[in-house]
Amino acid sequence: MLPGGALALSKLFDDFSRLLRDAGANVTDFGKRMRYEFAGQDPLPEREVGIDIHICTRPLVESVVRRSVEACEGIIILDGRRVTGLVWSDEERTVNGVRCATQEGVAEIHAADLVVDASGRGEVTLEFLKLLGRSQPPETTIGVDYNYATSIVEFADGEPDELTILTFPNSPDSTRSGVLVKREDERFFVTMCGRGADAPPTEWAAFVEFAATLPTDSLHRALKRATLHGKITQFAFQESRWRHFDKVDSWPRGLIAIGDAVCRFNPIHAQGMTVAAKAAVVLRDVVAACRGSDDPLDRLMEELMTQVNPVIANVWELAALPDLAFPDARGQRPHDLNESLAYQSQLGKAAVLDHGVQKLLLEVIGLVTPGEALRAPDVVEKVKRLTAT
Ligand SMILES: Cc1cc2nc3c(=O)[nH]c(=O)nc-3n(C[C@H](O)[C@H](O)[C@H](O)COP(=O)(O)OP(=O)(O)OC[C@H]3O[C@@H](n4cnc5c(N)ncnc54)[C@H](O)[C@@H]3O)c2cc1C
Repeated sequence: MLPGGALALSKLFDDFSRLLRDAGANVTDFGKRMRYEFAGQDPLPEREVGIDIHICTRPLVESVVRRSVEACEGIIILDGRRVTGLVWSDEERTVNGVRCATQEGVAEIHAADLVVDASGRGEVTLEFLKLLGRSQPPETTIGVDYNYATSIVEFADGEPDELTILTFPNSPDSTRSGVLVKREDERFFVTMCGRGADAPPTEWAAFVEFAATLPTDSLHRALKRATLHGKITQFAFQESRWRHFDKVDSWPRGLIAIGDAVCRFNPIHAQGMTVAAKAAVVLRDVVAACRGSDDPLDRLMEELMTQVNPVIANVWELAALPDLAFPDARGQRPHDLNESLAYQSQLGKAAVLDHGVQKLLLEVIGLVTPGEALRAPDVVEKVKRLTAT
């Protein structure tokens, strides 16, 4: 989870960072024990940037979030149920409940003042819009056709000094990239990516050889010393997708959507959990602001989207740029794509030379500071000056 995600969760739950660390997450400054390898330049030097990253598995994050939610007064968690549909009151013109099925197949209805679709896929909401005869949300997509292979590895003869190694692709010439991340136990996970017909293999020797084809040799050197734990698994990701629910004519009152149900990002950029956590903070604030008004549900989704859209737009732009660098990626290209890509490359080089640029770049990548900070005139001027020779 990126630093911005832990900061967002700390706004929702007291002491979230400490709880995650106590549960076993490795905590480091985002500029230290993190190796960032951009193609065609030196890796970023290890320098403190003043923001922490919590490095651990997804189940550890989820278990700490779960315990934090359980500790909130007034929350009851109903496990083992699948939402099968929404309940609509014609009279009140409002969603006022959900239909569920238990694991035993028992149908239930639960009344609700507000239903939040945080189901990742958002299918219940899409089906419901159809049922009401409302329009489907328009979508913006970027087709990337990424293939991932992930393994868990152990280092019997001493683990790497870094908690994370990130090897970015040499785009647009090669799509191959990889990451090695320390888990909360004594193991690491390694994920490598390719695009289109290029899929990292699931057989260990071939997997290690694939690492030799990355733009730098750090992962290959590490994997040659590593032992595979369990199996290598593959995963395919076709497209990033942003559903513009705010453009649906006459949005159903009493229903909102959040997280991946609204926008799903290419997982290679590791942004999804952070965006979902930031949206949850916005939701808390929007609901608090509406409470006590004559009609708290009126314009709730509109207000939520007004505040969440800039968060999504910032992250979409950060992710879209490297994804659209590949000529065969599908999506609307900004008119200044080539200039932006050239500036991105200059930024990486300037960050090696200058601590201030490195700090700002990592704050933006960590979703702590909006990307527009990198386009401030004084920053652009500094980056150009540093990379002029
Ligand atoms: C391979 C992969 C790697 C990723 N790596 C990262 C990463 O490193 N960092 C990062 O920040 N993000 C990562 N992401 C993205 C991240 O997983 C998502 O952005 C994030 O989980 C979205 O949270 P969410 O709560 O919206 O949805 P989800 O996490 O998908 O949660 C939805 C939940 O709703 C439940 N559900 C679905 N339908 C129903 C229903 N009908 N009734 C009841 N429950 C239902 C699901 O079972 C699930 O528990 C990755 C994604 C993938 C696919």
